[in-house]
Amino acid sequence: MCRGLLWLLLVALSHQAWAQPYDSLLTALQRSKTDTLTIHLYHQLAGKTTPENVDRALVYEDSALHIAKRIKSPKHISITLTNIGSIYRNRSEYTKACSYFKEAVNASPPLSPWLADTYLEAGISLLRITELDSAMQILQQGVSLVQQHPNGSVEAALYNAMGNVKREQNQYKEASALYFQSLKLFEAQKDLKGQTQALSNISNIHNLIGDVDKALEYAKQSLETAKMAGIKSSIAYSYRLLGRIYRNQKKPDEALKAYDEAIHMYTELQARREIGETELSIGNIQYDKGSFPEAILHYKHSLSVGKSLSDTFMTAFAHLNTANALLMTKDYRHAEAYIDTAIVLAEKKNLVNIRMDSYALRSEIYEAEGNYKLSLSNYRTYINIRDSVEREQHRQEAKEIEAKFQSEKKDDAIQLLNAENALKANQQSYLLVILVLLLVLAIILYSRYQVKLKANEKLKELDLVKSKFFTNISHEFRTPLSLILGPLEKKLSNGDHGAEMESFKLMHRNARRLQHLINQLLDLSRLESGNMELHLEVSDLAQTLRYIGSSFSSLAERKGIFYTQHIPEVFTGCYDRDKVEKIVNNLLSNAFKFTPEGGLVNFRAEVMNGLLTIEVKDSGIGIPQDQQKNIFNRFYQVDDSATRSSEGSGVGLSLAKELAEFHRGKLSVTSSEGIGSVFTVVIPVTRETFAGVPVKEPLLVNDPPATSGELALPVLAIHGDESKPFVLIAEDNPDMQKFVVELLQDRYRTLSVLNGVEAYDRAQALVPDLVISDWMMPGMDGRTLCEKLKTTEATSHIPVLMLTARADQSSKLEGLETGADDYLIKPFDTGELVTRIHNLIEQRKKLRQLFSRELILQPKQIALPSRDADFLLRLHALVEEKYEHPDFSVEELCLEIGMSRMQLHRKVKALTDQSPGEFLRIFRLERAKQLLTDTGLQVSEVCLKVGYNNLSNFSKIFREYAGVTPSEFLAETKK
Ligand code: ADP
Repeated sequence: MCRGLLWLLLVALSHQAWAQPYDSLLTALQRSKTDTLTIHLYHQLAGKTTPENVDRALVYEDSALHIAKRIKSPKHISITLTNIGSIYRNRSEYTKACSYFKEAVNASPPLSPWLADTYLEAGISLLRITELDSAMQILQQGVSLVQQHPNGSVEAALYNAMGNVKREQNQYKEASALYFQSLKLFEAQKDLKGQTQALSNISNIHNLIGDVDKALEYAKQSLETAKMAGIKSSIAYSYRLLGRIYRNQKKPDEALKAYDEAIHMYTELQARREIGETELSIGNIQYDKGSFPEAILHYKHSLSVGKSLSDTFMTAFAHLNTANALLMTKDYRHAEAYIDTAIVLAEKKNLVNIRMDSYALRSEIYEAEGNYKLSLSNYRTYINIRDSVEREQHRQEAKEIEAKFQSEKKDDAIQLLNAENALKANQQSYLLVILVLLLVLAIILYSRYQVKLKANEKLKELDLVKSKFFTNISHEFRTPLSLILGPLEKKLSNGDHGAEMESFKLMHRNARRLQHLINQLLDLSRLESGNMELHLEVSDLAQTLRYIGSSFSSLAERKGIFYTQHIPEVFTGCYDRDKVEKIVNNLLSNAFKFTPEGGLVNFRAEVMNGLLTIEVKDSGIGIPQDQQKNIFNRFYQVDDSATRSSEGSGVGLSLAKELAEFHRGKLSVTSSEGIGSVFTVVIPVTRETFAGVPVKEPLLVNDPPATSGELALPVLAIHGDESKPFVLIAEDNPDMQKFVVELLQDRYRTLSVLNGVEAYDRAQALVPDLVISDWMMPGMDGRTLCEKLKTTEATSHIPVLMLTARADQSSKLEGLETGADDYLIKPFDTGELVTRIHNLIEQRKKLRQLFSRELILQPKQIALPSRDADFLLRLHALVEEKYEHPDFSVEELCLEIGMSRMQLHRKVKALTDQSPGEFLRIFRLERAKQLLTDTGLQVSEVCLKVGYNNLSNFSKIFREYAGVTPSEFLAETKK
């Protein structure tokens, strides 16, 4: 706000100052309080300075510049520099003027509005020194500036100056167009002075091209306009123009009339320069007319004006023309003097044309004087100058051509660059469009992905709910199914061959199928929910496969299918038994299902490079080529018609494939319709493949040392060496029996029997370390067997492990009530079976190792199962009763206790870890120690008392047992 007011004030003051005459300006300057006002006042003063006092004008402008620099105002610095340049331009010192204009441009930020004048002035100056291209360039800069900061009168002046440049370049058409443009702008500005200028320029062009009529027409228009405006300088200029045209029209009198009018006007205006110029023109016309003395008068007038204005050009030109006229009057001496001065001035200010013409004239003067030598030398100088001028012109032309070429090249480069930029811009815009499109696409895809993700999540949730429900419901199916299967199996195992038997068998078969299907579905849902785990073990894979394979033998027999099995003797692998069983079972049952009577089924397996390859080949119905890819899909069946011959659910193969893949393997098929199929499973079975998955270690059983050589009973079909614990297996299913035997035979001696009765008999005879019994057996079932074993003295101590096919709580209780020590539900985990057996046997072993001596001497004090305690007490009592008799032996003990030597041996060994013989010996020796300590009896007496006849034998045996002889023992106890 404050700044705005200050500005208005300044403008007002400066206007006031402008209106003021010179003296009052000086007064105002003295009173000026602000720097900017002072600067303005200095400009006004310089502007008002008469041409003769240009130096004073320069002083004013210098003062203004000083202040402008002090207040660091680029605008005022620039304006002042421009003003100084203009002063030099008016003095025709164009080069110097140009350096100021350049400085002015540099002092201001580019495109500052006040620079318009600077460009105009610089353009005019460059024009004067015929730097036409530069002039044009700078004038164009001025035009671009005023287009941004409109300034109509300057713009018109710029076009006008540009027209002048074009005129100098002899491009009259362009020049004329520019003048017209200038005229239009001046008209718009209602600038009559400008209009007359433009009109006279147009006229001048017409004059130059020889269209004198048109030239005259415009010159007259110019004059009229000038008169209308009452601008004397313009009127005078128009007259001068008319004078020139008339001279061209060879109408010297009319020309003189026009020049006279001009002189009249200029005199009124005290425009001395113009008077000088006009005087020259008048002199020329007089010269044309042959009125040389008249001409000389006018030239001399011009000369004095030039001198007074310090205008060297005008002065030199006037001298030249005067000399020329003097030559015509044959006044050689004066002519010589004038021409000498012209030459000096021209050389001083480097006015080449004047210099050249002057030498030519001097040559003429000397020639006229008869001084040919000087004439010649001057002529030569003239020729030299002319040549150099021509050269300079050529150079200039060449320069211009080169400049033109360069600028064309530049234009081309610019165009190329523009084209490139346009291309780049195009490319960029294409790129941008592509980017935008990509972005839009990405957004669309992303949102679709999000929607999908959400849908997937929902589906996953649904799936989870579904498979949870599925799992729950499958479990729910399992319980009632077991309750159906249990009584059914009991009924079937009774061996009752009633009329309903076939129906029961049918029910049993279908319940089993249902159970199988449910188990398969449960496996699938486990796989799907990610709850399936690999239960790896390292064991004999061949054995496992043989067991699975042989379980199909009876089916093969029933169906009349020729079944062969090729499995290597032995190979150990790291694998999940359950998964392998399920895969192979499925493939084999399919092979049997889809192979008609008389067909072939081959089951082979081999291990190579840690890969187990199982091949199940059949000569069955085969699978059509186009169906082969589908058979691994869930619930897919090749023949799903209601009339199909084989039953099935379409789950088996998909489960088998998924299990194979879960085992990091593959299941594939090759098949030809009507010929048969080959299913191939390849799974890795090395530990390294399953790095990171826990592997169940094979059990390392510490075999108990051989303790008895007394085993005398004939034992048939007992596998394994005698140092190993002995396990009796009662299992009616031969496959299962074989399987368990193969599972245990490395660590135990085994004997397997097919029914309860035989199991009981064998247990009686052989008193095994453990009995494994199936729950369901023909004849005597597991429950009865267990009961009988536990109630028979010889076998009551034997741990019994029950295998039951049912998971229901009631059979578990039943199993334990019978005194079974442990039970497992079929199908059981093989590792678990081995562990349970190991635990039961170890428990007993530890117990008897801990209490063996006490069990012999004080069985009452050891907490034992009642039956075992009873036996030991009876044994103890018998020995107590008979030990004194030297004839009392193990044989007598067997008879007294009612057991075979074998039974007694196994039983006593099992309970006390000693054989009966050892039992008796320890008893006697312990009693001897007691007698030696407590009674004061002699060693020989004690020897007899504990049933030894031979003293030395007694002593030897005593020392072996106690580490000292009886006498030493006695001596020690006496101490
Ligand atoms: P299913 O319970 O029907 O046997 P699977 O998934 O085990 O279900 O088998 C899918 C289908 O693949 C079967 O229905 C049968 O059409 C075909 N298939 C499987 N094994 C054989 C085979 N050994 N010979 C011919 N067709 C077979």
